[in-house]
Amino acid sequence: MAQLIDGKKISAQIKDELKDEVTQMNARGITVTLAVILVGQDPASCVYVRNKKKACEYIGIRSISCEMPEETTQEELLEKIREFNQDDSVDGILVQLPLPAHIHEDTVIDAIDPSKDVDGFCPRSVGALCIGKPGFVSCTPAGIIQLLKRSGVTIEGKECVVVGRSNIVGKPMSLLLLRESGTVTICHSRTKNLKEICKRADILVCAIGKPRFFTEEYVKEGAVVIDVGIHRNEQNKLCGDVDFERVEPVASMITPVPGGVGPMTIAMLMSNCVESARQKAQNKE
Ligand code: NDP
Repeated sequence: MAQLIDGKKISAQIKDELKDEVTQMNARGITVTLAVILVGQDPASCVYVRNKKKACEYIGIRSISCEMPEETTQEELLEKIREFNQDDSVDGILVQLPLPAHIHEDTVIDAIDPSKDVDGFCPRSVGALCIGKPGFVSCTPAGIIQLLKRSGVTIEGKECVVVGRSNIVGKPMSLLLLRESGTVTICHSRTKNLKEICKRADILVCAIGKPRFFTEEYVKEGAVVIDVGIHRNEQNKLCGDVDFERVEPVASMITPVPGGVGPMTIAMLMSNCVESARQKAQNKE
């Protein structure tokens, strides 16, 4: 039976460590502040924003909530971002995606000051990751590295296969595994022999957005399997990209859905925010 990688427990540990650090920062007169911008009332986005605010409250991060109407123009949104860029009390800026169709997401993300880009989406942050320079890393892949490390999985020298090449999961995931000295293969929808390539993996990261796609036919005996997907099945229950029942007997370790990768994303957002405040304080010393 595979060991479960418990994202709930690990994310709670990270949040507790951050809470201690923020308490110490507060004692030195440092406040950590996250500005969250939500445009429109997309129900899923409202839930995500609420959860981020709750995590801020728990850790002791001040959150500034900026809710803008659906018909906000791109220029109005850019102006808001400029305001937060210039506000020295703001450590992190998060624009909740997706944005309404009339707003160009790339332009908006690009407008965020890289030193406050706690989502790690802006081109300068991604470029820094690519060339091994300091910068914020996209929260879901950063959370997966924490899951692996805190579960005692060695990445160095391992065959790592990442399925999915999106800008927010697959690509940064591959770069992070490479940074940890894994031997990395990236697969996508045009990959030939996907099963054979996946079967080579010591660490298999599944991020394609297809419910229960990965069966035991894709997994090597003893592999560590990370399931990034989140879906609702026919019974309205959450499931991932991995067919858990079929893969669990083959894997040595596996993340469940829910309770695996999901809880890590917010924990890493909080971590990036605290890191931003830490860097700002160091620069002032
Ligand atoms: P995208 O749709 O942006 O990317 C999917 C990727 O998978 C693409 O690169 C695509 O290839 C590839 N792909 C699709 N079908 C196949 C296939 N049959 N075989 C091989 N590759 C395939 O998704 P995201 O990266 O944003 O998200 C992936 C999943 O992770 C989703 O279920 C999403 O909900 C979940 N997610 C979970 C998060 C969390 O916090 N747990 C956070 C973010 C995402 P190509 O490029 O060729 O089209």
